[in-house]
Amino acid sequence: MVSALADVHVDGQAGPAATGPLLDRHGRVATDLRVSLTDRCNLRCEYCMPAEGLDWLPTTETLSDDEVVRLVRIAVEQLGVRQVRLTGGEPLLRRGLVGLVAAMAAMQPRPKIAMTTNALGLARSAQALADAGLDRVNVSLDTVDAVTFGQITRRDRLPDVIAGLAAAAAAGLTPVKVNAVLLRGQNDGQAPELLRWCLDRGYQLRIIEQMPLDAQHRWNREAMVTAEETLARLEPEFDLTPTGRPRGSAPAEEFLVDGGPATVGVIASVTRPFCGDCDRVRLTADGQVRNCLFAREESDLRAALRGGADDLEIASRWRVAMWGKKPGHGIDDPSFLQPQRPMSSIGG
Ligand code: SAM
Repeated sequence: MVSALADVHVDGQAGPAATGPLLDRHGRVATDLRVSLTDRCNLRCEYCMPAEGLDWLPTTETLSDDEVVRLVRIAVEQLGVRQVRLTGGEPLLRRGLVGLVAAMAAMQPRPKIAMTTNALGLARSAQALADAGLDRVNVSLDTVDAVTFGQITRRDRLPDVIAGLAAAAAAGLTPVKVNAVLLRGQNDGQAPELLRWCLDRGYQLRIIEQMPLDAQHRWNREAMVTAEETLARLEPEFDLTPTGRPRGSAPAEEFLVDGGPATVGVIASVTRPFCGDCDRVRLTADGQVRNCLFAREESDLRAALRGGADDLEIASRWRVAMWGKKPGHGIDDPSFLQPQRPMSSIGG
């Protein structure tokens, strides 16, 4: 589908209009920008990266705070981005984080600002982040069993995560959402316990299917715990009914738990993809635009920025990068190739 917002160029090919939002040739408009602030992490979740970590980006290749703010400003002021999600790597490891949030909160129109985090250290910074303008957080937590947590993350930091969650709720970074990945034979049997724990504290649990984005390239479909299996794990202990609320571009299918109002979400990225409703665009810590988590091409905005391009030129490159977004991630396509970058480097 080619939208009215597209232009027909001199070569007869349709392309993005010279002004306006981040449109792709299938008619989707990206309004949700995921910004990776660093590729470093202080956990070593086994489904994400190896025990020894990865070759982190050199500082010179990472966008400075001013560069991040400039690109986000262009996205918000010229490209129609309405929500900014800070991620990584671990965004709390970014030294200038509070200042970045404050700068984004001062943009017009003010974007919604969210953060995806492992919550290590959040107990210390939640209030300052809320005061700076952070609206809410998603905390990644796959288990509340300390032994299993140590096995999956290779770090014994469960108490820090729990403290971080409590601080986020106390600071009003709500609704506090908890994101979990289930691994067969490790924490899949603990899904009911995790849901009960979240319900008791007022956190919204969302369980996401594991995707082929691990640095070790060890994902395989048979080992993945499907959304259907997840529901089968929960249903003996909870009464789950679809909320019936339109999902829009939200990835989670929401269920009322025991009649509500509490809900649980299941994100079936692999078995029931939602690419047709995708409204996301990603900016990596080294300034590359990715139009999809699974994209194999990137557009180098850092080079443009450091080469002296003005805001109009950068906005125009960004539109071109979005225009080429594929209709779907293609995991089920026999020609599917996992992207070079792992999730931790793209920004989850
Ligand atoms: N460090 C932050 C955190 O822990 O939330 C942000 C980055 S982390 C890569 C973002 C999310 O991606 C986490 O919830 C993590 O569990 C999830 N994740 C990592 N690898 C994944 C994979 N292969 N499939 C699905 N989710 C994955």
